[in-house]
Amino acid sequence: MGKPLSVVVAGGGIGGLAAAYVLGRQGHEVTVLEQSAAFGEIGAGIQLGPNIFRMFEVLGLTEAIERVAFFPAGLGMNDVRTGETVVRVPLGGAARAVYGYPYGVIYRVDIHNVFLDACKDQPTVKLRTATKVEGYTQDAQGVTVQLAGGETLRADALVGADGLWSRVRQSIVGDGKPRVSGHVAYRAVLKREEVPTHLWSDDVLLWGGEKTHLVHYPLRRGELFNLVAVFHSNKYDEGWNTFGDTAELNERFAQAVPQVRELLEKIETWKMWVLCDREPVKNWSDGRVTLLGDAAHPMLQYLAQGAGQAIEDAVVLGEALKHTGNDVASAFQKYQKARYLRTGRVQLTARFYGDIYHASGVARELRNRMFQSGEESAGFAGLSWMYKGLDLKHLFD
Ligand SMILES: Cc1cc2nc3c(=O)[nH]c(=O)nc-3n(C[C@H](O)[C@H](O)[C@H](O)COP(=O)(O)OP(=O)(O)OC[C@H]3O[C@@H](n4cnc5c(N)ncnc54)[C@H](O)[C@@H]3O)c2cc1C
Repeated sequence: MGKPLSVVVAGGGIGGLAAAYVLGRQGHEVTVLEQSAAFGEIGAGIQLGPNIFRMFEVLGLTEAIERVAFFPAGLGMNDVRTGETVVRVPLGGAARAVYGYPYGVIYRVDIHNVFLDACKDQPTVKLRTATKVEGYTQDAQGVTVQLAGGETLRADALVGADGLWSRVRQSIVGDGKPRVSGHVAYRAVLKREEVPTHLWSDDVLLWGGEKTHLVHYPLRRGELFNLVAVFHSNKYDEGWNTFGDTAELNERFAQAVPQVRELLEKIETWKMWVLCDREPVKNWSDGRVTLLGDAAHPMLQYLAQGAGQAIEDAVVLGEALKHTGNDVASAFQKYQKARYLRTGRVQLTARFYGDIYHASGVARELRNRMFQSGEESAGFAGLSWMYKGLDLKHLFD
């Protein structure tokens, strides 16, 4: 094992904190730079497939996650206009039986806090807020990270975990703005007591319709209820976390079954995301600098894997450094080689699943047949390549 490195991580989202924790545990001196005034996440839920629970075990975080997660009874899809069940896959012990790990859902704030606390417990991890990375230069000895305001930091390596609009990415890949999908997501979180019993479900339940869907599931051990309504819209602002237009939402769901409309009416204020991704690339490293999470492979949310893939990245990055005896440039090449086909497959398959959820006509019929036949859904067969997760013993074969 080579000597410990100094590493700057740009961005303190789930991906940046996961990377900092992994590298800190390996004894590296890590500085996380977050542009916001405080570390934090927005109020919404995320789903965590069994492949991500596999990573929590590697990271020693299973218990901390399980304390705040919710374990849904099933994954279901209903037709938003008729209410009929398209498919339901019972969960319970099923994901564990097939993959050895459960399927869970979690409040973003809670998973972010698990990583933040884990970083705080690492004596070699420093956390800095209100610090924006502007760019970098590098030479044979190290990388100089340029911050807004003119300060510079010197380190052995830089990890750009600065999200969809990554500055670091622009120096490496240079592919400009993200691709606007034309889909927007409205999200809200209710308290358990705000959801009438007949509208509550312990499933992750998706109501699919033409160019729309609503997904809901409980969060935080069942204390909260997460709702995300997605539809095609011409509101193409690159807004992240702006307010949604309730009139537009109601119009998109005007044909929905009464229980869906009743649920939507419970929410006074929606927050909106404009959903974007990028084309997969195979090179996201430049010498002593690499990317991680959404900065490397932003994806649409239809497979619920963006944060999960960022966590897998962090684990593989740590393994690559161990494998190369902390030879930064060689480790970053090994890391991206081990990751780009898997993350590219998730990026492209997520687009396809978006089309499937929003299908009409023959595509809708085909979807229903496909799901109901069990070929896709039994044992999560269609996505087993994703859920079975990483084989850490053969990452670099
Ligand atoms: C509607 C929706 C639903 C989703 N559902 C799921 C799901 O169910 N499961 C799942 O796994 N994923 C889901 N995702 C995806 C997931 O949210 C992202 O993939 C994940 O948050 C990416 O984490 P990240 O750390 O790479 O980037 P981010 O979360 O974007 O974090 C980047 C951080 O970097 C900071 N930053 C940016 N620029 C700079 C700079 N120049 N200097 C310093 N700091 C900077 C930002 O302030 C931010 O804190 C969903 C996404 C959406 C939109």
